[in-house]
Order: sequence, then structure tokens, then C-alpha cells
Amino acid sequence: MSIAGKIAVVTGGSRGIGRAICLKLAAMGATVIVNYVGNQAAAEETAAAIRQQGGTAEVSRFNVADPAETEAALKKVQDDHGRIDILVNNAGITRDGLLMKMKDEQWDEVLNTNLKGAFTCIRAVSRVMMKQRWGRIINISSVIGFAGNAGQVNYAAAKAGMVGLTRSVAKELASRNITVNGVAPGYIVTDMTKDLPAEITEKIKAEIPLGTLGEADDVAAAVAYLAGEEARYVTGQFIHVNGGMFMG
Ligand code: NDP
Repeated sequence: MSIAGKIAVVTGGSRGIGRAICLKLAAMGATVIVNYVGNQAAAEETAAAIRQQGGTAEVSRFNVADPAETEAALKKVQDDHGRIDILVNNAGITRDGLLMKMKDEQWDEVLNTNLKGAFTCIRAVSRVMMKQRWGRIINISSVIGFAGNAGQVNYAAAKAGMVGLTRSVAKELASRNITVNGVAPGYIVTDMTKDLPAEITEKIKAEIPLGTLGEADDVAAAVAYLAGEEARYVTGQFIHVNGGMFMG
């Protein structure tokens, strides 16, 4: 599954699932642009780990919820490397709360980061990918976007929105040999889920046929497949990496 010489941008590559994706794509031969927004040390750590395994990486700070900043950063990647081959829209946040108590800011922050951020990045790379007549766009959604979850109407709406975004862009860009797919993780052990109370984690585990929470590497493996040449005939699809908790 070689993607040697390809330029890959991973949003939110500094930690968790994004870091595992960065390491995997770099191990497959891509030069990886590790994006972060606040945690520079973590992003540098990801890049250092890639270099240690013999790969090539650089770090790029931009806030995906800020279109001007995002577009400028992605233009710089194009100017520096002459191309962008792979985009993984992984950056995401939660601002949980029950509907009745949810503030506009909680809704806007999650939609602007998780959904509009992906749209901005896709729009920014689409022209160069069309010119190249080769591209891979991979959107990290969530089981919550398919199944829903009490206390996460903002997050679920954003992650479900990524499904429509993925399928529509897949149809728009297919003629230029650009595939657009998604991965929908279940509960994966990262900073995002580490503070869940033990009893909630146990309840979640009980609903997972495979009986355990997933690892970031489980998600990275699905991304690796979609990024490679072997997936050339797959577009507009979602791979569910969730231990069987939702069978979509
Ligand atoms: P983490 O909280 O561990 O990491 C989030 C990453 O996103 C960090 O790299 C962070 O950067 C980056 N980020 C957050 N906001 C922005 C922004 N505005 N601009 C650029 N980067 C940003 O999350 P996970 O690894 O758990 O999740 C990764 C993705 O997978 C998310 O989209 C999440 O919704 C999804 N997911 C996760 C699941 C899980 O169980 N963990 C389940 C299903 C989906 P920084 O380090 O600078 O803060």
C-alpha cells in the first residue's frame, strides 16, 4: 500500500486518532503535514515520531474553523510542495450538553470546527487535486453521526453533515479521479474519551459486540486503505470502525 511521494495533510494530526493517521500515512511513504491548533508540543512530537521511523513530516498551525487562516496555510503547502494528494479531515471537538440547555456558542463552535472546517479544507485543496487528476479526501465522522446520542445534538449534526458532504463532493469530483470517503469510528481511546466516568465506559463496552473500546490505530488502518491505490474504485463510502456497536 505505497503512497510514496504523495503529500498528505492531516487536520488535527497532533494527538489521538490524527496522530495515528499521520504515522501510518508516513510509514506508507507520504510526506505528512501535521496540523494542530493549540498544542504545538504534541504536533512536534508527532512529526518527530515520523522522522524517527524514517519518514518525512512538517508541522502546520491553523484553525480549521477560521477559513482565511486555513486557506492561507493550505496555499502555502501547495506553494512549498507543488501539490496536495491526500486530505484527511480529522480535526474535531465536542461541546456536549442536553438540547434544552445548549447554547448557540456550543452549537456554532462544533459545527464550525467539525463540519465547516472540513468543507473549507476540501474547497481549498480541490483545485490542485483536479489539476493533478488524482486525489484522496477522507473525512472522519463518528458513529454518533449515524446513531445519534443524547447530549450531543451539535456533534451528531456535524458528523451526520459530513456524510452528505462526503457523498456530494464524491459525485462532484469523481470525473477527476478524486475519491472522497469517510471513516466513522466508534468509541476510541484518546484524550476525547479518556475522561468519561468509568461506569459510562462500562455501559458503552456492554453495547459493543467485540467487547472493547477501539484504538487510534484501528481507525488509521481504515484511512490507510482509503488513501492507497487499492481503493481507487471506492468513493462516497463510509467504513465503520466501531467493534460492531452500530452496523450501518
Ligand atoms: P482529540 O481530542 O484527541 O484530538 C483532537 C485533535 O483535533 C487535536 O489534534 C486538536 O489539535 C485538533 N483540533 C481541534 N480543534 C481544531 C481546530 N479548530 N483546528 C485544527 N485542529 C483542531 O480527538 P480524537 O483523536 O479522539 O478525535 C479525532 C477525530 O475523530 C475527531 O473528529 C473526532 O470527532 C473523531 N472521533 C473520535 C472518536 C473517539 O472515540 N475518540 C469517536 C468518533 C469520532 P490540538 O492538539 O492543537 O488541540
